[in-house]
Amino acid sequence: MTLVIETKDLWRVYPLKTNVDGVPALRGVSLNVPSGRFVALRGRSGSGKTTLLNCLAGLDRPTSGSVQVLGHDLMQMNDQELTEWRREKIGLVFQSFGLLPTLSAYENIELLLRIKGDDYDVRHKRALECLEIVGLSRWRDHRPYEMSGGQQQRVAIARALANRAELILADEPTGELDSKTTRELLTFFRELVETQHLTMLMVSHDPLVDQYVHEVLTLKDGAIENHPRSRTTPGLK
Ligand code: ADP
Ligand code: MG
Repeated sequence: MTLVIETKDLWRVYPLKTNVDGVPALRGVSLNVPSGRFVALRGRSGSGKTTLLNCLAGLDRPTSGSVQVLGHDLMQMNDQELTEWRREKIGLVFQSFGLLPTLSAYENIELLLRIKGDDYDVRHKRALECLEIVGLSRWRDHRPYEMSGGQQQRVAIARALANRAELILADEPTGELDSKTTRELLTFFRELVETQHLTMLMVSHDPLVDQYVHEVLTLKDGAIENHPRSRTTPGLK
């Protein structure tokens, strides 16, 4: 069993001028996510979900503990190494989609590969492939405002897949979608994990997600509440 994510006793304390102790957003998180799993990270607002995701993406620095992602010890990497590593290996998806409004679906995906430094032919082929994977080939020239919320989130997913990421980290990806679109997207995520050989950690506070994932982890006051507890999902392959 290969572990894609492995944290041990991870703490993140936000310093505060008014409080010498700071705010402990993560208080000793130890968690393992094996390769090929679709895992939900649930918990109330303020429980530390975004902080944990940012630490796993190398967007934030833990105060102490260890964090290994895709075989890399993030605590040992400098900012530039983390940025390059993230560009190569991680796909990020956010609640608010994060698409550039003046660019078409195709251009939003292609831009990411341009930043990564790929040649035109590689970028072009991969951007079209990713639009196909998310079922939006016909929408390639449309701008975000011409698409539904569910379609915009699919473009954001296509962009997250474009670098052939092995790990997708998604922060409340269905937070702005209605329940029908949420269900469609969760079904799609599950298929993606199974067909594209991905691992996915998805932050959500929606109980609906429990039916679609391999495992549910719950954060409470900066600590994992119920780990390890695997779930098998009735009705899904
Ligand atoms: P969640 O995503 O589960 O809602 P967060 O990780 O955003 O939780 O926040 C966890 C805790 O850390 C909260 O108490 C929040 O107020 C605090 N927090 C988050 N970001 C900062 C920051 N930049 N500075 C100080 N406190 C923060
Ligand atoms: Mg959050």
